[in-house]
Amino acid sequence: MEKENKEIYNTLGISDEVLGFCDKVIGELKDRFQKIDETTEYNQCKVINAMQKNRVNAACFAATTGYGYDDAGRDNLERVYASCFGTEAALVRPQITCGTHALAVALSAILRPGDELLSPVGKPYDTLEEVIGIRESKCSLKEFGITYAQVDLLPNGDFDYDNIKKAITDKTKMVTIQRSKGYQTRPTFSVERIGKLIAFVKSVKHDIICMVDNCYGEFVERIEPSQVGADMIVGSLIKNPGGGLAPIGGYICGTKECVEKCAYRLSAPGLGQEVGANLGIMPAFYQGFFMAPTVVSGALKGAIFASRCYEKLGFKVIPNSTESRHDIIQAVELGSKEAMEAFCKGIQAAAPVDSYVTPEPWPMPGYDCDVIMAAGAFVQGSSIELSADGPIREPYAVYFQGGLTWYHAKLGIMMSIQKLYENNLLDNDLLNS
Ligand SMILES: *Cc1c(COP(=O)(O)O)cnc(C)c1O
Repeated sequence: MEKENKEIYNTLGISDEVLGFCDKVIGELKDRFQKIDETTEYNQCKVINAMQKNRVNAACFAATTGYGYDDAGRDNLERVYASCFGTEAALVRPQITCGTHALAVALSAILRPGDELLSPVGKPYDTLEEVIGIRESKCSLKEFGITYAQVDLLPNGDFDYDNIKKAITDKTKMVTIQRSKGYQTRPTFSVERIGKLIAFVKSVKHDIICMVDNCYGEFVERIEPSQVGADMIVGSLIKNPGGGLAPIGGYICGTKECVEKCAYRLSAPGLGQEVGANLGIMPAFYQGFFMAPTVVSGALKGAIFASRCYEKLGFKVIPNSTESRHDIIQAVELGSKEAMEAFCKGIQAAAPVDSYVTPEPWPMPGYDCDVIMAAGAFVQGSSIELSADGPIREPYAVYFQGGLTWYHAKLGIMMSIQKLYENNLLDNDLLNS
């Protein structure tokens, strides 16, 4: 490492021991990073191609107010998303407040009283439990007479095709597939695997609408689930496709019929996609989408770097440092409350915003134990920015993701190791080996 680089890391608080260890790890990851760069290169060209095909120009960046009729920038952005993800139509709006909202819109746009929703991949993301009514909530799908069925994965992580077939009945209108593992320990699904599952579902009943919760998965591979048969893919703009620049928003890309229904559900029957002023947000949405493949590549490199570092330091990491990746989340089982706190302090201390704050565990609503979180983000709660969190209970795992640049992700991980080191929570033999 150049002398000046070493000095600036020392200034930021990273010791020579930790620097030496991390430098060696980086050396081992060259081939892996090269592969990521190739995917990024492809996806960057894919986004540019979609923008060129739809003749993006300065007029697309204009603000609209009021009803937002004839909002050319908004309408064209939706064509760009549709082109890029290979769908007939798209809904990309600041009026979709987050990923959960986008998923709730998509589900309630398609399902009617008497219909059943099936998850063939086990339990969905926490916040969807209330949307569906797995946990009681006002206005859940369950309150509207929509039932829910679930088939868990087999112990080895495979799809349980026999039971999925049995679970599909006359009532089954829609299937929801979560691509990312979220905060579970199952593997994340590759787009190819999702395609096989969708083909199977449709072979049992051809008119089932298949939706993929695409959160954290966009641009990790060269193709998206919409290109292997999904009728709808759904996600958040303060994750991957917002590129860190979108300050709010969600998207739904899919068939014309599905997207039209979602638009009617989001605004009002009869109004649909025609209304929804952009309030000046278009430059951030376009530029964020343009940046997204590069931002995702930085987050991915950070996840792999962390995986390799912590693996070498003797901790269990999911996924491990050699597995193929299909989302940007990394889990590290640290084994103690103290280690979780030290890890999160490191991530926080490396942030460009709120670096002086000390994260403390707190009793977060909806959890049966304290939760610790580290985030120093430009956009509140943005998890494409470097962030970490975890419930303070066995196996004392932190989940972390994001990093708008590889260099920031790298600093955050080095700082987390530094804090563990300073608190005597590392095996120094492994650090120096
Ligand atoms: C983040 C996430 C959601 C919910 O998105 P929010 O923006 O937090 O509401 C849903 N599913 C998965 C897999 C996610 O990662």
